[in-house]
Amino acid sequence: MSPGSSSVRRPPVALYIHVPFCQAICGYCNFNRGLFDEALKTRYLDALTREIAAAPGRQADTIFFGGGTPSLLAPASLEAILEAIRRDREVAADAEITLEANPDDVKPEAAAAWHELGINRVSLGSQSFDDTVLAWMHRTHSAAQVPAAVDTLRAAGIGNVSLDLIFALPEHLDRSWSNDLARAMALEPAHLSLYGLTFEPHTALDRWRQRGEALPPPDDRYAEEYLAAVEAFSRHGFEHYEVSNAARPGYSSRHNSAYWERRPFLGLGPAAHSNVGPVRAWNEREWEAYRRRVAAGEDPVAGSEELDEAALTLEERYLGLRTDRGAPEALIGQAAERWIEEGWARRGDGRIILTPEGWLRLDALAVHG
Ligand code: SF4
Repeated sequence: MSPGSSSVRRPPVALYIHVPFCQAICGYCNFNRGLFDEALKTRYLDALTREIAAAPGRQADTIFFGGGTPSLLAPASLEAILEAIRRDREVAADAEITLEANPDDVKPEAAAAWHELGINRVSLGSQSFDDTVLAWMHRTHSAAQVPAAVDTLRAAGIGNVSLDLIFALPEHLDRSWSNDLARAMALEPAHLSLYGLTFEPHTALDRWRQRGEALPPPDDRYAEEYLAAVEAFSRHGFEHYEVSNAARPGYSSRHNSAYWERRPFLGLGPAAHSNVGPVRAWNEREWEAYRRRVAAGEDPVAGSEELDEAALTLEERYLGLRTDRGAPEALIGQAAERWIEEGWARRGDGRIILTPEGWLRLDALAVHG
């Protein structure tokens, strides 16, 4: 299907490309990823571009390379993927095109090539500015490589840089959260994403816990550090627009906002999820299963479901409460009065909007009221 055909008049999609390879496996990570080598890269590119060619040719207004570690792909590989995308669909002239990158992959030549390809936003997996913490996490970068990466991106013309930070780390690391926040703010990023450390099954972190080598911090540490970040956002002029995300005005993530606003999104690559209208679908999670299906000319979708009215309502409530748009008051009901009284929410334009104290209780409030 070519650009200009009837499909491009439908609402545009947010396009997600999953790159499931990493240079090393971080201790806390349970994402879909594996170790990277050149042979895998070639087979990945072949499978992905086949899937792109077979996918619906609908206009994309955002493209997000997520992972895994998309910055491990050479610029020529990213170019091949973008060409495959553009071959069968229009990409909006002002599309937000994001690349997740590890700081140690940000080199001047790579950054210049990303800019040349139209990549206009980079999400850096910075996590901390403490070398002991980074080594404990098995990250491949050093603290000094984060500001260097930000400078390199800016010099290449990519000013829209987001930093990831992990909080609620085990106490034995003696990590200074206030120092990490200050170091992040000093770089004046356009966007910040927060992740509270969780001990997921089948991770190195979980094994360390079982051996008594890493224990979750006391419960109140999570809330204290989250609220300290919220205070820093407001002091530095960020809009805290989603439970875990804050941006300078005009720099909220358009791609991630598509998820939260339930706009159509299409995920390509192993384990990628899609959602168009009431239908959710997910690709084969395991790389080999994904590759075999695509190579055989089959759709790599492993499963799908159509949400009924009740599930759609619950989703609208949950996604709305995640953001500073809030959820329609009619979806919250009588619980709203108690939330407001407790300081967990406020009213605005017929919607109920959670406060940071409410966001600390998001799952409980969204599900149980
Ligand atoms: S780089 Fe990201 S995806 Fe890869 S192991 Fe680390 S946290 Fe997981």
